[in-house]
Amino acid sequence: MLKIDRFRCAYCGACVTVCPTDAIELKGVWIEIADEKCNGCKACVNICPVGALELSDQNQSS
Ligand code: SF4
Ligand code: SF4
Repeated sequence: MLKIDRFRCAYCGACVTVCPTDAIELKGVWIEIADEKCNGCKACVNICPVGALELSDQNQSS
């Protein structure tokens, strides 16, 4: 499950660009995350310049 700190997010769109499954959508100053599309790759977590994204390991496919 991907969590976003909306107070920290700068809405730069980097996570949207990097996500291979289009699970993240930037709508103006709002980020929408489709958990069912997320494959847990953590690309968004790693690219976020302000550390606003956090991925809990729970729903990663093993
Ligand atoms: S962890 Fe990977 S698949 Fe999930 S939202 Fe981030 S970039 Fe997309
Ligand atoms: S990469 Fe981080 S700061 Fe940029 S839009 Fe995504 S969550 Fe927000």
